[in-house]
Amino acid sequence: MTLKFVYQDITKMNVDAIVNAANKQLQGGSGVCGAIFEAAGWQKLQTECDQLAPIETGEAVVTSGGNLPASYIIHTAGPIYQKEGKDASELLAASYHNSLKKAVEKDCDSVAFPLISTGVYGFPADAAVKTAVKTIRQFLAKNELTVYLVFFDEALFTKSQELFQ
Ligand code: ADP
Repeated sequence: MTLKFVYQDITKMNVDAIVNAANKQLQGGSGVCGAIFEAAGWQKLQTECDQLAPIETGEAVVTSGGNLPASYIIHTAGPIYQKEGKDASELLAASYHNSLKKAVEKDCDSVAFPLISTGVYGFPADAAVKTAVKTIRQFLAKNELTVYLVFFDEALFTKSQELFQ
């Protein structure tokens, strides 16, 4: 079982797949989604996404990695915290679990996740990290995969390492 925390720009990760914190319409946007679209090649990625959209919250779909070092991008729509209320944690866990299943389906050995829903979707970061770690560890108990949880905030990275690693 391998779960590693890194402090990095996810678009630079040298892994088989990176996960995008997408919206249900799979439209290129801001935050990590914008960074991924920019680095992968916006127009080509949007064309691929348009063929798969829309998706449900918690669902995951796969496109090519375009110009990224990663071969695939797994797009998952995380929950909007205020909107989902008490279902938010379960939906966030579904985003991680369904993305991991897609990675295995594509024969990936390594996959990198951003902290889904912790930006404009408003999920409290500490609780999101806890749900991410729990869901990933459960999956790794039954699957051979190296998973990276990618932090974009150094203080949160340091704190989470102390708590979970
Ligand atoms: P969401 O809409 O799911 O909340 P955001 O893109 O707003 O998604 O934020 C998700 C997380 O991704 C945030 O914690 C944000 O700091 C982080 N993030 C933003 N850019 C990058 C990047 N280039 N690499 C890794 N993480 C990033």
